Amino acid sequence: MRVYADNAATTKMSRKAIDAMLPYLDIIYGNPSGLYEEGRSARNAVDNARTRIGNRFGCSGKEIIFTSGGSEADTQAVITAASIGEKQGKKHMISTAFEHHAVLNALKSLKTRGFEVTLIDIPEEGIVKPGQIQKALREDTCMVSVMYANNEIGTIQPISEIGKICREHNVLFHTDAVQAAGHISIDVVRDNIDMMSISAHKFHGPKGAGALYTRKGIRAAGVIFGGAQERGRRAGTENVPAIMGMAAALDEACELMEINADRTVKLRNRLIDGLSEIPHSMLNGSRSSRLPGNISFSFEAVEGETMLILLDQKGISASSGSVDPSHVITALGRPHEIALGTLRLTIGEETTEKEIDYIIASVKSTVETLRSCSSVWRELQAGRRKYVLK
Ligand SMILES: *Cc1c(COP(=O)(O)O)cnc(C)c1O
Repeated sequence: MRVYADNAATTKMSRKAIDAMLPYLDIIYGNPSGLYEEGRSARNAVDNARTRIGNRFGCSGKEIIFTSGGSEADTQAVITAASIGEKQGKKHMISTAFEHHAVLNALKSLKTRGFEVTLIDIPEEGIVKPGQIQKALREDTCMVSVMYANNEIGTIQPISEIGKICREHNVLFHTDAVQAAGHISIDVVRDNIDMMSISAHKFHGPKGAGALYTRKGIRAAGVIFGGAQERGRRAGTENVPAIMGMAAALDEACELMEINADRTVKLRNRLIDGLSEIPHSMLNGSRSSRLPGNISFSFEAVEGETMLILLDQKGISASSGSVDPSHVITALGRPHEIALGTLRLTIGEETTEKEIDYIIASVKSTVETLRSCSSVWRELQAGRRKYVLK
């Protein structure tokens, strides 16, 4: 048996998304910039996808820029805010310690341009407090970037409240909604969002396709040089098949959102309850305010990477976040050895109850195996060392 439990890394494409792409790989191959029939057909398709995608988030198609994925969208958002900030003499940005590296590294790149960045600490339950953002704001703050939902621990952030604070202070607000889009409800107006990144392969669309929403009136800065595609905001011939696949995947995900979420949350809670029986372990992040399919657990005296190898041998595809102690788990204030013993399981629409029970049994036995040959565990048991997790 193989159980795929790494849907936060990528998802399997839906049949509808594949079918929506096929004609554009084959019959309708024109360049959307072409002034002839083949080009017009491709252009119409892209425009239609743009409107549909915008509508799913409560914005206009004109506010959508197609990109090569979430990383590019995040990069473009940060660079856009920097360009706008520079013009106004504002060179301070606020983000959080547990953002995706696409945001963190884009922010880092601005150091040479004289920008200062404040990274907000993450409270224990994995949810940023709007008051923390309020406190960090300065006269020269030009952007706040807070992810909609975290990719490692799945916690959902108070985006609308944070957006409201940013509006009141005339500061651009970007959210990396890559993990949230297609899984939980997003409305850029309700949520006071100025810029937002999404990526198709996280909601059963193709890899290499994403989008950046930029609210009307915000002039997006280009990060790819070339032609005048995307109204001069993103050069390069449009990835027509992938754009069509993304639109179809998003339509399907949004139409089935409630049904999928209800089902997934039940399975997720069953998995959380099962893993909670393992002594000296803990769920990372709030139990309730989290993505339907995310489970992140830390285990005392267990080496995460070895656990992943053993689970793979049992047919389970899971993740730890990274080989190094995860910056997300350490941001929660956990010591490195606990961060290293972290397991992320992200289930999806196709996960079954039988698979959940198999995961629970497999993780339990794997933790036991690893602890039985761990010197740290022996010291803990003998009382020569203190447990970090109760
Ligand atoms: C996957 C992911 C990204 C990167 O998206 P790609 O399309 O793979 O470049 C960015 N942010 C978050 C939160 C993600 O989960």
